[in-house]
Amino acid sequence: MDKKVIFSREEMYELNVERLKERGVELEAIAEIAYHQQSRYIPNVSFEVCLESVKKLLSLRDIFHIVQLGIEIDRMTEQGLFRSPIQDIMKADLGMFGIDEIIGLAVAQNYGAIGQTNFGDIDVNKPGIVAKLNSDGKGDKPECHTFLDDIVGAIAAAASTRVAQIMSEELAHKE
Ligand code: MG
Repeated sequence: MDKKVIFSREEMYELNVERLKERGVELEAIAEIAYHQQSRYIPNVSFEVCLESVKKLLSLRDIFHIVQLGIEIDRMTEQGLFRSPIQDIMKADLGMFGIDEIIGLAVAQNYGAIGQTNFGDIDVNKPGIVAKLNSDGKGDKPECHTFLDDIVGAIAAAASTRVAQIMSEELAHKE
């Protein structure tokens, strides 16, 4: 039988939720970052809209492929399955590696310049689950989250930007 490679949005969403959970990431923790980022600009922003945006993003095909690939690279790095030097570079989560940030930017890019600056903010300030992933994967620890911290940060940035767009649209209809 042929292996399944095309998934519906519901299936992609479910598979992403499952994998993220396996790696210690709950959707609420991603929505939390989006919520805090947007509440600096929109005081009445709702957590529910942030969570709904995270869920929507996790059903998109591009994001599905990125989440699934990023998590597999991290897992295989934990198991030492790559060859050196890239194995050691990814395990060390070297600041100058940069490919994890390129992937993060690719996700954030779907939400334009604001999406990218929102990702930059999260990448530099490392709020909530991003800080946890980053520190849990650093040093001599067995865990590796080199790709996942950026992917999670980028989904939070994209969700936060999407919320800003929804709020602007609502405002435009009121005026
Ligand atoms: Mg990283």
